[in-house]
Amino acid sequence: MRDFDLLEPKTIPEACGMLAAGEDVRPVSGGTALLILVKQGLLRPRSLVNLKKLEGANAIRRDAGGAVRIEAMATIHEVETSQVVREHLPVLAEACHQVANIRIRHLATIGGNLAHGDHQSDPPGVLVALGAEVELSGAGGTRALKLADFLLGTYETALEPGEMVTAVTVPPVEGRLVGGYLKFTTGSSEERPCAGITALVRLDGDRPVEARLAVGAVASRPLLLCEADPAEAALEAMADRAAEEIDPIPDLRGSAEYKRHLVRVLGRRAMAAAWAEAGS
Ligand SMILES: Cc1cc2nc3c(=O)[nH]c(=O)nc-3n(C[C@H](O)[C@H](O)[C@H](O)COP(=O)(O)OP(=O)(O)OC[C@H]3O[C@@H](n4cnc5c(N)ncnc54)[C@H](O)[C@@H]3O)c2cc1C
Repeated sequence: MRDFDLLEPKTIPEACGMLAAGEDVRPVSGGTALLILVKQGLLRPRSLVNLKKLEGANAIRRDAGGAVRIEAMATIHEVETSQVVREHLPVLAEACHQVANIRIRHLATIGGNLAHGDHQSDPPGVLVALGAEVELSGAGGTRALKLADFLLGTYETALEPGEMVTAVTVPPVEGRLVGGYLKFTTGSSEERPCAGITALVRLDGDRPVEARLAVGAVASRPLLLCEADPAEAALEAMADRAAEEIDPIPDLRGSAEYKRHLVRVLGRRAMAAAWAEAGS
């Protein structure tokens, strides 16, 4: 592996100042993806800016308005085990629990996962279904962007040179969300997803007022479908529509046709489970 300098800022402004020095200065969080690219010679950074030592950069809290803010350096394991996430965003805890294996989850961060932009990941689809926003910070200041607009394609995000992801925020839900995350792998359960389906029903009291179906890992970006005032009969149609609208990337995990079929079958299954939970 080629030599690089390791810079260790203590604050976000300090880190942003370092990242502004040029495109060969890269942020590193858990290092689980970046160091593989560096070892393979696909990236040759002059310096790495270690974000792991930023003060308070892994906090997870719920504000008075009900929004959940996860600082970017929170590890996937910290998200999965956070009391706030388990109580208010159980579907996110469920998805994070299914990322890779316990060793990776202890290192990999939520910010690194989103910034890396690998479409075959679990958290992005769930977070898009939850309407999450990302906070981006750079030497010029801070901006917020819908995650759905941040994820532009495979390994492509809206990050500008010198910017870093500093937090992800999930807005408060009107009423209550029920449902879950269904991960499908073609190999061991620790593998990256071939498809990741999030099915949610929003309840106002006992009344279903919205259904959401997000498909992650199949196309270059998550696909989100929403249906207002859903009826049981509409749920299968949502899965069918997702299968028609998705643009699957064929690879070793399956052909485009196979993945489209998966979306239809898993989408129907996940929506039926969410509906059953809503009824109970
Ligand atoms: C064996 C293995 C199995 C895996 N299985 C799964 C799986 O099942 N599901 C899944 O979702 N993922 C899986 N992953 C991916 C893993 O979740 C990612 O490697 C991880 O999320 C990247 O996070 P990190 O903190 O390690 O990022 P890093 O490796 O540190 O960085 C990744 C990229 O993002 C940039 N970066 C890092 N942090 C920031 C930031 N805050 N702002 C801007 N840019 C940043 C880096 O410069 C780099 O380009 C797997 C990885 C491995 C190695």
